[in-house]
Amino acid sequence: MIYLDNAATTKPCEQAIKAAEDAARSCFGNVSSLHRLGIESEKLMNSAKKTILKKLGLQGEIYFTSGATESNNLAIRGVADAYKRRGNKIVTTAMEHPSVARTMDYLEKLGFEIVRLSPKDAIDNFEQYIADNVTQDTILVSCMAVNNENGFKVDTEKLYRLVKNANSETVVHIDGVQGFCKVTLKGDLISLSGHKIHGFKGIGAMYCADKIRFTPLVYGGGQQKNLRPGTEPTELIASFEAAVKAYPTDLTHYKELNGYLRDRLSKMEDVYINSPDNSVYNILSFSVLGVRSEIMLHSLEEKEIYVSSGSACSKGKISSVPDAFGMNSERADSTIRVSFSMETTKEDIDALCDEIENGISRFRRTKKCRRK
Ligand code: PMP
Repeated sequence: MIYLDNAATTKPCEQAIKAAEDAARSCFGNVSSLHRLGIESEKLMNSAKKTILKKLGLQGEIYFTSGATESNNLAIRGVADAYKRRGNKIVTTAMEHPSVARTMDYLEKLGFEIVRLSPKDAIDNFEQYIADNVTQDTILVSCMAVNNENGFKVDTEKLYRLVKNANSETVVHIDGVQGFCKVTLKGDLISLSGHKIHGFKGIGAMYCADKIRFTPLVYGGGQQKNLRPGTEPTELIASFEAAVKAYPTDLTHYKELNGYLRDRLSKMEDVYINSPDNSVYNILSFSVLGVRSEIMLHSLEEKEIYVSSGSACSKGKISSVPDAFGMNSERADSTIRVSFSMETTKEDIDALCDEIENGISRFRRTKKCRRK
C-alpha cells in the first residue's frame, strides 16, 4: 500500500499509540479529582500543554478540544461574541476549510460583516492584502496558515505584524492544522489537530495568547477555566503530546520528494501543477487534463495507491478553493492532491507516476475507441 493522503489524515505513530495505552492503563483519573490519581492526570495534561507551547514557540494557554473543527468554531464564534460591542467586521479568506467558512456564513446571518478575500487577487503578497482590508471596526482576522487542498502558505508572522499595525485591537485567528510542526505559526488564537501529525482523531487544541477573550461554545462543569468544559480525555491528550514530540524537525525529505515529483510530472503531457510556488513541500496538487479526479483516484486505488481529489472534507461538495485561486473548471475537475509523510519514499513517487502515465494512455485509448 502506498499512502499519499496525509493531508486528510495520518497513520498514528507508535509513540502516540503507546502513550494512549499507558495513559488508559495508569493515568485514568479525572483531572478534576482531588486525590492522587486526579493530580497525576492533571500533571499529564499540563505536560502536554507545555510540549505544544514549546513546539509553537509561544506563551499563553492551550485548550484541548475534539479537533480543529471545534477549535475553529470556538475561536471564531467565541471572539465574535466577546468583542461584538467593539465592532462588526470580520476579515477572512475564500480558501478556508468548511469549519471556518460555514462558521462565517452563520455569523453573517447574525449580522456580522464578513469580508472574504481570494489569494488570486494578491497571490504575491496576500498578507498585505488581508491587512489592507482591516479597518477600525474589524474585530477579527481569520486565515489558514497552509491550505489543505494545494499547500499554499501564508506567512503568519508577517500577517500578524501587518494586521496589528493596521489595528492593534484586531484579534488574529490562525487555522494552523496543516502548518503545525511544519511551519512557524503566529496568532492570538491558533487551531490545531492531532490526527494530521500522526496523533489520534478526536483530539485537537486551541492556543490562546494572554489577554485574548472568547465566549465558550458549551457550558458544563467548569473544566479548562470554564471555557471548554467536559472531562479532559487524558488518553487522547497523551497521544497528542507524544505525536508532537515525535514529529521530526528536519523536513528536507519533503523538499526532496516534492522536487522529485514535480520533475516527473513536468515530463507528462497535459499535467499541470496547481500548487502555487509559495507552498509547503508536503502537499502537491496537480491536474491531469481530460481525466476527471475521481476516475484517476479510483484507477490509482486499484494499485493500492491512495491520493485525494482536492480535499477529503469536500467529498461530494463543491470546494471554494479552485475559484479562490482562479482555476478554471476543467482544471478543477481533474485535480489530484498528493500529500507525503516522512515514510514516503522516492519509490512510492515512482509507482504513483508510472500509474498516472499508464492511466493517461489507457483513458486516451478508451476515448479514441469511443469516437470510432
Ligand atoms: N482546517 C484544516 C485546514 C483542515 O485541513 C482540517 C481537516 N481536514 C480541519 C480544519 C478540521 O480538522 P479536524 O478534522 O481535526 O476537525
